[in-house]
Amino acid sequence: MKKRRLFIAGHTGMVGSALLREAQCREVFDTVTATRAQLDLRDFNACLAFMEEQRPECVIFAAAKVGGILSNSTYPADFLYDNLTLASNIVHASFKTGVQRLLFLGSSCIYPKLAPQPIPESALLTGPLEPTNEAYAIAKIAGLKLCAAYRKQHGVLFHSAMPTNLYGLGDNYHPDHSHVIPGLIHRFHLATEQQLPEVAIWGTGTPLREFLYVDDLASACFHLLNLDNPPDWVNVGYGSDVSILELAHSVARTVGYQGRIVLDSSKPDGTPRKLLDTSLLRSTGWTPSVNLEDGLKLAYADYQAAKAANRLRSL
Ligand code: GDP
Repeated sequence: MKKRRLFIAGHTGMVGSALLREAQCREVFDTVTATRAQLDLRDFNACLAFMEEQRPECVIFAAAKVGGILSNSTYPADFLYDNLTLASNIVHASFKTGVQRLLFLGSSCIYPKLAPQPIPESALLTGPLEPTNEAYAIAKIAGLKLCAAYRKQHGVLFHSAMPTNLYGLGDNYHPDHSHVIPGLIHRFHLATEQQLPEVAIWGTGTPLREFLYVDDLASACFHLLNLDNPPDWVNVGYGSDVSILELAHSVARTVGYQGRIVLDSSKPDGTPRKLLDTSLLRSTGWTPSVNLEDGLKLAYADYQAAKAANRLRSL
């Protein structure tokens, strides 16, 4: 059987590397990748030349400038410009070179700050966004709409998946710029090593967040690539959420930290709740398989291994 040629844009990131692991398990794909040194995705002509040479039939777009709540609110120009450019370059270069199927990955932050919870796909563009990640969200909304427009106008199967907060192998552990799970793993690990009596978590601890293990996202992406008539965009979530304080206790348990947890209210909370309605994806026959407790153990084991090998990502 002829294998489908698949380009994973952004294969070195946490999501891209999970997609690559999954693609390698599925023998139907012949996978193409490019490092940042080989291909600058912000350069349209370079994207076009790469796609003309490699001729993929399918593309999964997992390249993004990502970061946690502080990074997003500090560098809005970088988040908006880089993510808009990446999206328009890959979508247009794919169209120009005859790609028939493209899966664009966005984020649950595309939905309004005060969207109904759990958030259905129909909540898109019904209200103002959460200001702390507005730049990233606007770029992802533009990417999603671009795919839907090319599908409508040109008949190509370009569609999108909007994952909830992700964590897992190869995460970014920067103390200020990372997302909450790697941020807390790092802080609780150091506090355990240094026998600190307390660890501060940001904000009030009350915001609710849903977390999906990144390998579950990868399995959902390949499931979506196999649907004949996928929705223009679909939520990919775990299906339940926890408070940040509960999460902090789970991370402390996973790491073996026994001190106190205190709140640093000088840091922002972000949106009060972000739980996706995943009924559309579930109705197509997909469910997640890694719960938060097991996922945290896997993530912490990977953190320890990466630290021991001096290859911890901290961008
Ligand atoms: P968000 O989902 O876009 O808000 O992104 P984050 O993962 O950065 O933050 C999620 C929630 O965790 C927010 O309410 C943060 O204030 C809270 N939080 C608690 N401690 C930390 C931490 O050490 N790092 C980060 N990034 N967030 C934290």
